[in-house]
Amino acid sequence: MANISAEVKAISAAMIDLRRDFHRHPELGFQEVRTAGIVAERLRSLGYTVRTGLGKTGVTGLLKGGKPGKTVLLRADIDALPIHEQTGAPYQSEHSGVMHACGHDAHTAMALAAAAILAKEAPSLAGNLFFVFQPAEELLTGAAVMLRDGALDGVRPDMGFAVHVMNRLPAGKVAVRSGAVMTSADRLEITVTGRGGHGANPHSAIDPVVATAQIISALQTLVSRETPPLKPAVLSITMLKAGTAFNIIPDTVAMEGTFRCYDAELRQALLAGLRRTAEGVAGSLRCTAAVTNEFLTPAVINDPAAATLAREAAVEIAGGDHVAEWDPLTGSDDLAYFWQQFPGCYAFVGSGRTDGSPSPANHNAKFDIDESALAIGADLLVRAARKALRTA
Ligand SMILES: [Zn+2]
Ligand SMILES: [Zn+2]
Repeated sequence: MANISAEVKAISAAMIDLRRDFHRHPELGFQEVRTAGIVAERLRSLGYTVRTGLGKTGVTGLLKGGKPGKTVLLRADIDALPIHEQTGAPYQSEHSGVMHACGHDAHTAMALAAAAILAKEAPSLAGNLFFVFQPAEELLTGAAVMLRDGALDGVRPDMGFAVHVMNRLPAGKVAVRSGAVMTSADRLEITVTGRGGHGANPHSAIDPVVATAQIISALQTLVSRETPPLKPAVLSITMLKAGTAFNIIPDTVAMEGTFRCYDAELRQALLAGLRRTAEGVAGSLRCTAAVTNEFLTPAVINDPAAATLAREAAVEIAGGDHVAEWDPLTGSDDLAYFWQQFPGCYAFVGSGRTDGSPSPANHNAKFDIDESALAIGADLLVRAARKALRTA
């Protein structure tokens, strides 16, 4: 059994109710009007100085402690996904085609619970509490837009913490890791251009479809042959658009994909390799290839000191046997933009089934969490924040 602190236990039922309310009313990125409204109202009622409309629907809350000191930032993401929920839960989404399938409803409820507990202690705290409720994490754009809108103006966070629920980890367990935890993400677009013609007369056309097939195969060597084996990288071509009829060779083929890695230098090298390979293979087949990439987010890198504090908090709550050092993930989170501004730790709170049966994964229409994760996550935020303020 987890060793949940009394303050968290006292509001656990209310936290679960609030999570279910958010779950019933999920909102997509940059449309989190209802969610942001509830967050702002709660923070104000707790005495926080609230700013809204940061990155369209982002909210921040600042509360100064009784004595001067450091500033600790706690961040939650608030958006949902375009998925039609199929859990059949009594608190199932009431918005058709929109679902909290990544647990951001839980993150929002946990952070608000932490905000309530820490607000009570504020008069005796040395330092400041700063909460960030970020929109559009699933679009990997909310953090950058919040920062562009000046979310950190007038605030200098010394350390930050955030938690993400994870169904691959059974409830009761927590994963904390120092260093790289989530990859950078690029969206890729490659357009291959040839010259269209009759499908029966390929010699009088220049076929971009055959060139595309070879480009996709050749791109596999970027990871298998050009990436150091001990450095992770993922390149996936996920969309292909070409052609209008069975007997027409099209002028162009458009592909999209995603590219993830940890190492900024490796990222640059592989992007250059991507261009070289696509253009070179296309050229050898008389086509041209235009490659563009949209840099969505850098990698999430946890600070060693912040990770130590988060791990201490996790061990106090879950017990040492239940705190895992986890492999880095190949998913991405634009929390990375915040961690570039100040040291932080992103911890993963187990929310999966505890009977050994597999839980539906994050982003699945049947995704739901073991709600005991809420108390653990909220307690982790509270304890980590207290520790960060105490460290001189
Ligand atoms: Zn997600
Ligand atoms: Zn998520």
